[in-house]
Amino acid sequence: MEFRLIDRIRDRTALTREDVRLGIGDDAAVLAVPAGQQLAVAIDTLVEGVHFPHGTAPRDIGWKALAVNLSDLAAMGAVPAWALLALTVPHGDAAIVDGLAGGFGELARQHAVALVGGDTTRGPFCLSVAVHGFVPPGQAMTRSGARAGDALFVTGSLGSAAGGLQLLQGRVPFDANNEAHRTLRERLDRPTPRVRAGVALRGHASACIDVSDGLLADLGHICAASGVGAALDLDALPLSTALHGVFGGDVARELALTGGDDYELCFTVPPGSVDAMQAALAAVGAHATRIGAMVEGQGVRAIDGAPLAAMRMGWDHFGA
Ligand code: ADP
Ligand code: MG
Repeated sequence: MEFRLIDRIRDRTALTREDVRLGIGDDAAVLAVPAGQQLAVAIDTLVEGVHFPHGTAPRDIGWKALAVNLSDLAAMGAVPAWALLALTVPHGDAAIVDGLAGGFGELARQHAVALVGGDTTRGPFCLSVAVHGFVPPGQAMTRSGARAGDALFVTGSLGSAAGGLQLLQGRVPFDANNEAHRTLRERLDRPTPRVRAGVALRGHASACIDVSDGLLADLGHICAASGVGAALDLDALPLSTALHGVFGGDVARELALTGGDDYELCFTVPPGSVDAMQAALAAVGAHATRIGAMVEGQGVRAIDGAPLAAMRMGWDHFGA
């Protein structure tokens, strides 16, 4: 179907990998999993108006559709290799497809990910990307390995993507001449999957998850899967200068706790492995901030025992 569109996608994502024995163009791709590796696979769908705002540039959509999937592989500690793209576009619009494939290809090349196939149909705008990565047997990081006493870390900074969304939808209007505003929009539109950090954390982290739905929600998944609680040091939450500057400390911290789309890695580390973990991250140019500890019990609380629910002022608070 839609052969010319498929050719445009293939041209914009072309990348040679020795393990792709047969790529786009046949009824199925043929792929060679390296000996001694397991496959980690994930898929995520992006729907206009739900996962990206109406009016988002096609290039950014293409980038983000791959980024959110690479983030899932990163959380497992897998090295990405191959992707599939199922694309539904309203009018078979070549300019939109060119933009999508361009943004997708830009990020794919950074991680040597080959687009090996997919599907192209007409209908309401929506795209699904599936990714495949490699991980040595038994070394994938999971949500379930955290233990009471483990230290709690997060890569990068939190809340900036939610800040970018606030600039589009909230009471602080986006100003293209404002550098901090542009920085926050960039974090929303072009998230950076922490692929190298994820691989470096293998063997050091006891549990890991990527922050897609907000720290409280995603850390809550680690707590539930591991059967432990988490005590957060709210003063330690890493906030970008841009986020703090535009929204102030209270709203920035709120966004860091509850805002989605950051695609940082949240992970736990046994106390004896913290130094080695920090060194492993530094070796790949990554950095993580200690934001608390895992504790006996369940759910996420503040380190001083303050109930986090009382801190959650809700979206109406922003900009007030
Ligand atoms: P079939 O009808 O046999 O499923 P298609 O005509 O849908 O084949 O696709 C032809 C080839 O193009 C296949 O190799 C398929 O994987 C690839 N392809 C189709 N759409 C896309 C897309 N959006 N991205 C990448 N490859 C695609
Ligand atoms: Mg076929």
